[in-house]
Amino acid sequence: MIKYPDCFKELIECFEMYPGIGPKTAERLAFFTLIQLDQESVQKFSYALTQAKEKMKTCTICGMLTDQDCCDLCKDTTREKKLMIVENTKDVIAFEKTNTFHGKYHVLNGVISPLNGKGPEDIHLDHLLERIEKEKIEEIILATSSTIEGEMTALYIKKMLEEKQVKVFRIGYGLPAGADIEYADEITLIKALEGKKEF
Ligand SMILES: [Zn+2]
Repeated sequence: MIKYPDCFKELIECFEMYPGIGPKTAERLAFFTLIQLDQESVQKFSYALTQAKEKMKTCTICGMLTDQDCCDLCKDTTREKKLMIVENTKDVIAFEKTNTFHGKYHVLNGVISPLNGKGPEDIHLDHLLERIEKEKIEEIILATSSTIEGEMTALYIKKMLEEKQVKVFRIGYGLPAGADIEYADEITLIKALEGKKEF
């Protein structure tokens, strides 16, 4: 039986590592790479992969993905003293696109999920209380997803903030139950922000 040569098989396996890409799609992408892309494009692709992996890190203050120690948002002194807590960097980009929130962000890089063995210590919460004091935050907006894990995480953070002199809000209106922030469109996000409720 004829099989693909090892080097080509390896390329297929590389594509298969990505979520949502099964063996058939991986095979198609590998063929596309081989036949449709020129040498320059392939080199650009492999360079981009290694560079991004090497240079990207999380901001030491907010936890967002950046190529600097401190991200541009954290450096911006004109931001309001409101702090939106989100699950990941994609959520920050989504809310920034709506241009309706002018505060700061705190990126958890995950959610509390007992089923997956993820506790509060596994998400970026250790700097939160310190940040609220240091940056004199007046308002917290919990913008985790409306999934069970997102709700659980929001509740945990709310409890954590009970002693603090800070108003805590939860976004909600317009976001269907079980919705992931990253898949919500701009209008939905704007509505969710407008409809934030004290939590
Ligand atoms: Zn930052």
